[in-house]
Amino acid sequence: MLQNKTTDLDIVRPVVDMLRVHAPGRVNLIGDHTDYTGGLVFPMAVDRGITIDYRVGGSLIALESTAEPGAVVVPLPFDSDPSTVSPQWASYVAAMAAELGTTQGIIGTVASEIPSGAGLSSSAALECALGLALGFDGPPLDLALAARRAEHAATGVPTGIMDQLCIASATEGHATLIDCHTLDVVQVPVPTDLDIVVEFVAHRTLVGSAYTDRVAECARAEAVLGPLRSASITVVERHRAELDDVAFRRARHVVTENERVRDFADALGRGDYPSAGRLMTASHESLRSDFNTSTSAIDRAVERCVTSPGVFGARMTGGGFGGCIVAICEPGALDSGWSVRPSAGAHRVRVLSDGG
Ligand code: ADP
Ligand code: MG
Repeated sequence: MLQNKTTDLDIVRPVVDMLRVHAPGRVNLIGDHTDYTGGLVFPMAVDRGITIDYRVGGSLIALESTAEPGAVVVPLPFDSDPSTVSPQWASYVAAMAAELGTTQGIIGTVASEIPSGAGLSSSAALECALGLALGFDGPPLDLALAARRAEHAATGVPTGIMDQLCIASATEGHATLIDCHTLDVVQVPVPTDLDIVVEFVAHRTLVGSAYTDRVAECARAEAVLGPLRSASITVVERHRAELDDVAFRRARHVVTENERVRDFADALGRGDYPSAGRLMTASHESLRSDFNTSTSAIDRAVERCVTSPGVFGARMTGGGFGGCIVAICEPGALDSGWSVRPSAGAHRVRVLSDGG
């Protein structure tokens, strides 16, 4: 049997290994503003994400980021209000540490290929990557729930579970169809002969307060209609007179969007890309006119895509008020933006060799 022997080299090696974790960003193919009423969403983890290289040790989290200013130093255990720490991105770090009850420190660097504040969920990628770096070891659903609670504590915005659950649970080659009430996730194969293109339009603005308003408006509709996740458009129309115009339009978006998610997954499954594309474009129109989360720049970008040859459909993606659009098209039909591929969820990568 081979014995491990200490060699001269071991004496000069760092005592603690450099470790790496990676969490992908996500693009939502269809199903926006349906998660916080327990509806259906259909996001896909992409081949761009956040990577943290770090060493374990000490009683502090010490991180710098290639994308955000300021070093983050969080003393452990962290039990204060994470939304008050600075720099701003330290709130996510402190919130995740508080959520996981972290006592063992790390020191490292956060690198990102996702534009921040662009609707590709850099925040959830950061939370999930941090969770793994801080030693989380459990099922993807638990990581997602912890990350979502951390996002709420860090930002005060009552976001749904879509981003964290997609990023924690995705498998390569698949998009994640999520029932946000039961938290069931179905991994749906993404056809390889379909291009999925993401185009960055503008950084989002006013997103926190406007998002919180939308959550309240849906709650107002639910007070009359009951849970939107199980309501139909017939029920919404029947109760129109009991709803103010805003609550009516928000409800109409949510119930028709849930239906579109189901139909989109079916269309994708049978390779009916024109139908899938029409559903994406209808989703955009509903978000624009009923949910009022689009902008004129986003509308123009969607319009340009859907009138291009070989494009099946396009829509704004994510919370809105700026951000990105997503299109599905024949391979190579769009040369703007990034062609993204369905990727694995948050994971530990490998132990780097010494000095590397
Ligand atoms: P989105 O999730 O759509 O990208 P959010 O506003 O929810 O937009 O999250 C953006 C925030 O996440 C940033 O303001 C920053 O605090 C944090 N963040 C994102 N990427 C990084 C990164 N690479 N390094 C440090 N913080 C990051
Ligand atoms: Mg976010």
